[in-house]
Amino acid sequence: MITTQAAVLWDYGRDWEIEELTLDDPKSGEVLVRLAASGLCHSDEHVRIGDLPMEALPTIGGHEGAGVVEAVGPDVRNVSEGDHVVLSFIPACGRCHWCAIGRENLCDKGAGAQVGLQSDGTSRHHVRGQDARLMCMLGTFSPHTVVNEDSVVKIDDDIPLEKAALVGCGVTTGVGTAVYGAEVGAGDTVAVLGIGGVGANAIQGARLAGATRIIAIDPSPFNREMAGKFGATHTFASAAEALEPINEMTRGAMANAALVTVDVTTGKVIGEAVSLVGKGGKVALTALAAFNDNQVEFPIFELIAWEKQIRGCLFGHSSPRSDIPKMLSLYRDGKLMLDELVTRTYTLEQINEGYEDMRSHRNIRGVVLYD
Ligand SMILES: [Zn+2]
Ligand SMILES: [Zn+2]
Repeated sequence: MITTQAAVLWDYGRDWEIEELTLDDPKSGEVLVRLAASGLCHSDEHVRIGDLPMEALPTIGGHEGAGVVEAVGPDVRNVSEGDHVVLSFIPACGRCHWCAIGRENLCDKGAGAQVGLQSDGTSRHHVRGQDARLMCMLGTFSPHTVVNEDSVVKIDDDIPLEKAALVGCGVTTGVGTAVYGAEVGAGDTVAVLGIGGVGANAIQGARLAGATRIIAIDPSPFNREMAGKFGATHTFASAAEALEPINEMTRGAMANAALVTVDVTTGKVIGEAVSLVGKGGKVALTALAAFNDNQVEFPIFELIAWEKQIRGCLFGHSSPRSDIPKMLSLYRDGKLMLDELVTRTYTLEQINEGYEDMRSHRNIRGVVLYD
């Protein structure tokens, strides 16, 4: 049993509060990880404001982290003490139907993400005498956590852990949205709606896939400037502003793909994305939506007559056990930018400041560094 700290949510709409955390030893199939860093992803903000509620509070936030395995419980097979690991925001059990067919992003164990307990339905994390839930069964807003081995992916130990943390959610989600979700190909025209931690990587994915024109759409001048650094060829403040230029630059063919990586997916943004793609165009929806939102409007005729497609896209349609190491290889080879994503680093105590910077468009990806 160890005592550490964690950023805890006690009620929706309140800030993260730094609490003393008591952590039990890992049980069967579980590992204790000493984290080096945690990314500040928008999904935790969705949890905080109650758009994406947990089954119960208090909850320890954070689902984008990397670190070193400090101890393993009984029956752990995939990792050993001392291994460097990335925590995957979706577990990959390797045994369910979805894992077996190579779609680990849909692993049945992902159903526990909003429950936030260990596989046996209990908690190893205790704050103020109460059991705490864990965002995505991870809880990376703490220098230590206990998670199931299904949620960790072993990586090579030459990759800096504070960079590796980013591929546990945002980077892989963004790149995968372009490469797998919308199947971007060489010479394509791609529109990316919303340039945050995921959108910047959707641009990188489109670039890696060989897209010729990458059109970044975001109301924030800072985000548009960042888009250019990651490979956007054109930037616009809104989809309405981009519509006519895309029509001109493609001689009426419109975009091959539109990637929706905004703060919150709404019916309005889906309609805008559908309007930007042409025949056979694919719209990949990656940004989370409010739980009870069910209104969408777009020209239904175009969907049929022009064979447009709207696709849901979880974790960029990626398989954590193959794609997390792949992202890190691309980084090592200089093809994927990770250093440039981290606009600012914070201590755990500064976590609310980090989220304020996200809300005010002052960072692309904020990262909490431990020690
Ligand atoms: Zn995330
Ligand atoms: Zn599975």
